[in-house]
Amino acid sequence: MVDDAATQAVLDALDPGEVLAFARALLAAPSENPGGTEEFAARVAVDILEALGAEPEVIRGEAGRPSVIAAFGSGARPKLAWNGHLDVVPAGDPSTWEHPPFDGTVVDGRLIGRGAADMKGAVAAALAAAGAIVRSGVELGGTLELHLAADEELTGNHGTRVLWEAGLLDQDACIVGEPTELQLALVERGGAWVTATARGKAAHGSTPHLGVNAITSMARFLLHLEEVLPEREHPLVGRPTVNAALIEGGSAPNVVPDLCEVDVDRRLIPGERSPEDLLASFERLAARLAGDHPEMDLTFKIREWTDAAEAPRDSRIAELLRAAVTAETGTPPADVGITGITDARFYINEARIPTAILGPGSLTVAHTANEWVAVEELVAAARIYARAFVGFLGRE
Ligand SMILES: [Zn+2]
Repeated sequence: MVDDAATQAVLDALDPGEVLAFARALLAAPSENPGGTEEFAARVAVDILEALGAEPEVIRGEAGRPSVIAAFGSGARPKLAWNGHLDVVPAGDPSTWEHPPFDGTVVDGRLIGRGAADMKGAVAAALAAAGAIVRSGVELGGTLELHLAADEELTGNHGTRVLWEAGLLDQDACIVGEPTELQLALVERGGAWVTATARGKAAHGSTPHLGVNAITSMARFLLHLEEVLPEREHPLVGRPTVNAALIEGGSAPNVVPDLCEVDVDRRLIPGERSPEDLLASFERLAARLAGDHPEMDLTFKIREWTDAAEAPRDSRIAELLRAAVTAETGTPPADVGITGITDARFYINEARIPTAILGPGSLTVAHTANEWVAVEELVAAARIYARAFVGFLGRE
C-alpha cells in the first residue's frame, strides 16, 4: 500500500509559487524547433535540478542537441520515468501575440507564452513535484528519472530517440506530460509519409495533345485521395486520415509537365502495421482511376513510418494517475487519445514500458499564437505528478 502520510508530506512541501516560477524561467529561454536550439532551456533545467540537489546530466546525440536527465530517490527499482520536451514550435510573427511569446506574462490566471501548454508548463510541474519530494524528506523506495528531451516537435530523433539508443529507457513505467487537460491518454496515432510520383510525357505547351500532363494525372488522383483510407476506427483516436501536404511539378509555363510529386501525410491508428498494405491501397486507387485514364502513371514510396502506440489500460501507472486526478479534481480523468505523434511512442513501442500521457494545458492552443495554460492547472498537474511519483515509488 502507498503510504498516505508520505504523499501528504510531499503535497505539503509542494510550493505553487515554485511551479509558476519554474514555468516562467523555462518559457523565457526560447527553444524554437526548427530554427533554434534547446541550449538555453536545457541550461535553465540544469540550474533548477542542481538547486533541487540532483545531479543532472546532459545527453547529446550526433546532432549535439541537449536532453537533460536527472534521478531522484534510492537508485534502486522500481524506476519511473517522467518525460517532457524542452523544445517548442516557433512563435511565428510576434505581432500576432497579445503578449510577447517569451515573457511569461500572467493575465487572469493564465500563463501566456510559446510552450506554456506544449509543454514547459508540464516540465515545471514535474520539476516542482520532484522538488517537493526532496524538501519533504520523504525517502523513496525506488527512483524517479526525469527525461527532459530535445527535438520532440520534429520527430524526436535528436532527443528521446537518443536516450533510447543510449540504453536509458529501462524504467518500469513512464509518464509523458504532453498536454491532455489532465485527462488520461494511453493511445496515440502513428503516421506514414508517402511520396506519390506521377509521370507523364513532356511536349510543347502549344500542343498538349502530344504529351501527357503529369500534374493533371496527379490532380485526378488527389481528388480521390481519401478513398485510400480503410474502413476502420479506434474508439479514442478515431479514423485514419490522409493529407496531401507538399506538391512539386512542372518545369516551365510553356511545357507540358512530365513529373509531379506529392508528399502525403497518412496518419495511422492502432492495428495498422503493414507498409505493404498501405502502399497497396494507394496502388489500387491509382489502378482503378487508370481504367478511365490509361495515360495515368503513378508510383508510390514510403519515406517514413511511425507505428501508432497503445499502452495497457490497466497498468499500475495508469491506475495511479486515475486515482491522483480523482483526488485532486474530484472527477476521474476521461480516457482520451492523441491524434498526433509524441515521444511516448519510444517508451511504448521501442522500450515496451507501460506508459501514460497526462499533462496540463490543451492541444487546441498548442502551436497557436497566445498559447496559454491556467496557472491553477499547472499546480494541479504538479500535485497529480507528486501523488503518482510517491504512489509508484513509495516505500511498501
Ligand atoms: Zn508537445
